[in-house]
Amino acid sequence: MNSDASTEPVVRLSAVRKEYGDSVALDGVDLEIRPGEAVAVMGPSGSGKSTLLNLVAGLDRPSSGTVVVHGDDLGTLNEKGLALFRRRRIGMIFQFFNLLDDLPALDNVALAAQLTGTPAAQARRRALELLDELGIAGRRNTYPAQLSGGERQRVAVARALMNRPALLLADEPTGALDSRAGEQVMDLLLDLNQIGQTLLLVTHDERLATRCASRLIEVVDGRVARERSLESAQ
Ligand code: ADP
Ligand code: MG
Repeated sequence: MNSDASTEPVVRLSAVRKEYGDSVALDGVDLEIRPGEAVAVMGPSGSGKSTLLNLVAGLDRPSSGTVVVHGDDLGTLNEKGLALFRRRRIGMIFQFFNLLDDLPALDNVALAAQLTGTPAAQARRRALELLDELGIAGRRNTYPAQLSGGERQRVAVARALMNRPALLLADEPTGALDSRAGEQVMDLLLDLNQIGQTLLLVTHDERLATRCASRLIEVVDGRVARERSLESAQ
């Protein structure tokens, strides 16, 4: 075991099992993600990919096994602790964006920091900076319904980055986008990873996965069936 803090994994899953009633969604998953890695999870529908992400995000708890993220053993946290963990340590983006329809882009992003106690003016300043970095500052006053899919996902990425998360999680982030917008979002994730953002991403699109991941994990029937390093591909 390497005790150097800088090489401590950001994510460590040990013997993680998740059951829903009689069905087993994850069956003995071990996984480590080191700082700065971009890991893509692939696999058939129903194989347990979203379950895996939700456990890492602290949105759900394993039936057995341990999930440690950024030094926090999630099993030791109560519901309030998990909520704080999610807000402070994790950024998450989803296939269908999960933006609040009645807030303009800027407020959708700023809200993430206001929920952690950042004063509104400061939150709005950082939100605008992020929208600017992601190339959509001009859309800051636009409501989600008036944004294109690609723009919505950029707003969602900005929101996910607001609290400088140790880990960015993405569950099928290009699943609802046309191929061009999907490539742009993947390139954005790649850019973020290249400036050090650790990334765990679920996708069914191998071409997009290899575009931004350094490691590819294949989940089949709740188990890690195959793992492939893509380091040399970049
Ligand atoms: P994937 O994201 O790879 O498509 P999921 O992780 O969503 O797969 O699902 C894995 C398995 O767990 C599936 O059989 C699914 O039906 C089941 N499952 C997932 N979430 C729940 C839930 N909240 N309640 C019951 N079963 C669930
Ligand atoms: Mg899924």
